Amino acid sequence: MTAALIDGKAIAASLRADIAAAVARLPDTPTLAVVLVGDNPASQVYVRSKVKQTEEAGMISKELRLPATATQAEVEAVVQELSADPAVDGILVQLPLPAGLDEAAVLSRLDPAKDVDGLTEISAGRLVLGKPGLRPCTPEGCVILAKSVHPDLAGAHVVVIGRSILVGKPAALLFLEQNATVSMAHSRTKDLPALCRSADILVPAVGRPLMVKADWVRPGATVIDVGINRIDQGDGKSRLVGDVDFEAVKEVAGAITPVPGGVGPMTIACLLRNTVIAACRRRGWAPPAL
Ligand code: NDP
Repeated sequence: MTAALIDGKAIAASLRADIAAAVARLPDTPTLAVVLVGDNPASQVYVRSKVKQTEEAGMISKELRLPATATQAEVEAVVQELSADPAVDGILVQLPLPAGLDEAAVLSRLDPAKDVDGLTEISAGRLVLGKPGLRPCTPEGCVILAKSVHPDLAGAHVVVIGRSILVGKPAALLFLEQNATVSMAHSRTKDLPALCRSADILVPAVGRPLMVKADWVRPGATVIDVGINRIDQGDGKSRLVGDVDFEAVKEVAGAITPVPGGVGPMTIACLLRNTVIAACRRRGWAPPAL
């Protein structure tokens, strides 16, 4: 069997087009502020993409850069100012922050109404309680990709590998919200391959290159690979791979996301969607169906 490819790039582009159309109909232009501390090269690339795609969707992008030497108080002050600024609808603090900075303390300064990454305690609490709120972008992207194959997720067995605050835990809760039956696996899970083989939808979010092998996947299952790992090709060059051994698993799975071009593009599209939702809620505009 050769799996159908789930084209995250195309699905994200279609969502961004819907967002741009919705933004054009709003009474005013939403603003997304991105805070980047330090000079982590990967973070710089992500922030550049976020700024570019925010502007392409017709929204205003405000970029705040602080040096790696910024103090905890300085970073918190920037986030607090943006939280208090009525012209800002969404705030994204690019993680990870440089070593020595307390991310939780920085996020605690963020107005939950502007928490477009869904990382504050209020957003997490709302997700657990099943109340409306801003949902974390990468897990939301995983659900959209899974629904592109299974429009109704009710009763599907979803196995999420990983339990991080950023990806694994919220992904499990979002699939639960869709009435899936969810298993959360992690580093202490016993016989992980057997658990994975029981999945209708497998969502590895670990950060271990090519960990999920073909015999971990039930024939016909859907695989949504969140992992982004840079590996040495052996010729002095490197390339990005997921947590899934794509070449082998695509012969077994029914549908699979590639890396790159799967979950990654969805993360930014969902960030833009959250910015529109946050702007509408804050300013009392009717939310567009996105
Ligand atoms: P974390 O390191 O925070 O979490 C990794 C999780 O994997 C932990 O819960 C850990 O378990 C679990 N784990 C580690 N080793 C194993 C193992 N051998 N078997 C089973 N579980 C294991 O990573 P993140 O959640 O932040 O990111 C995960 C991956 O997703 C990374 O590759 C990251 O680059 C990628 N990512 C991709 C994004 C995108 O836009 N596509 C966005 C964000 C992340 P335990 O809790 O027991 O330690």
